[in-house]
Amino acid sequence: MTRTAIVTGAARGIGAATARRLAADGYAVAVVDLDESSCAATVADITAAGGRAIAVGADVSDSCAVTAAVAHVETELGAPTILVNNAGILRDNLLFKMTEDDWDAVMSVHLRGAFLMSRAVQAHQVTAGWGRIVNLSSTSALGNRGQANYSAAKAGLQGLTKTLAIELGRYGVTANAIAPGFIVTDMTRATAARIGVEFDDFVEHATKEIPVQRAGDPEDIAAAASFFCSEGAGFVSGQVLYVAGGPRA
Ligand code: NAP
Repeated sequence: MTRTAIVTGAARGIGAATARRLAADGYAVAVVDLDESSCAATVADITAAGGRAIAVGADVSDSCAVTAAVAHVETELGAPTILVNNAGILRDNLLFKMTEDDWDAVMSVHLRGAFLMSRAVQAHQVTAGWGRIVNLSSTSALGNRGQANYSAAKAGLQGLTKTLAIELGRYGVTANAIAPGFIVTDMTRATAARIGVEFDDFVEHATKEIPVQRAGDPEDIAAAASFFCSEGAGFVSGQVLYVAGGPRA
């Protein structure tokens, strides 16, 4: 039986790498992002490699869009029993400059989005008696200057993960979180641009603080997601895995 996975924010970056990896692992993959057309490249990569994928446009913070997206995935690929809550945005600023919109936007995509997606997908997981939820947290959950909103959301996702693990475990569903450190994506490129630093210099500076002496790639996170979604990880639940090239927490 081919299981169906949903990866949110999968048009690029960590989400795209995770979608490609889960397709290579043998799952049918729904590539979800704000704009359906932006998912085309990820879907094409998966299809070219012999996998099965569809593009789905949905804002994960919109309840109606989430319901429609999950129903569409069920029709096209079969009931989704794997969910990777990866969609994310940054609205960084020091606290005294952070607006209420900055706060609400970040909470909305990361926390409300993961809540809505998990609530919609758990119905299929409970029916199947099997499921996997992987939430993208961050080392910023431990606190990070300029990220009051983002760090609170990413810490919140760790609490959500543990509660999902407790509530859904009896239905054969595991829930785990991955907390990446510095990963080379458009998100870290945007951070460098915002603070006016060349990206290569930004990476070099970050790398000095990383024990393995390199920045992370999206594939590093995809590998961790692949493990959490595997059959063999069925006794691993409610965990937060820091994937940061060194110890955290
Ligand atoms: P990215 O390159 O910015 O990609 C994020 C994707 O999420 C984009 O395609 C974006 O679409 C999509 N998205 C944003 N809001 C959405 C919404 N409401 N509904 C659906 N999709 C939405 O980010 P990334 O670096 O790959 O990060 C992926 C995840 O890992 C995020 O949760 C991030 O917080 C987390 N993370 C990243 C790092 C890092 O160093 N990169 C470290 C720790 C944690 P648009 O392009 O249309 O905006």
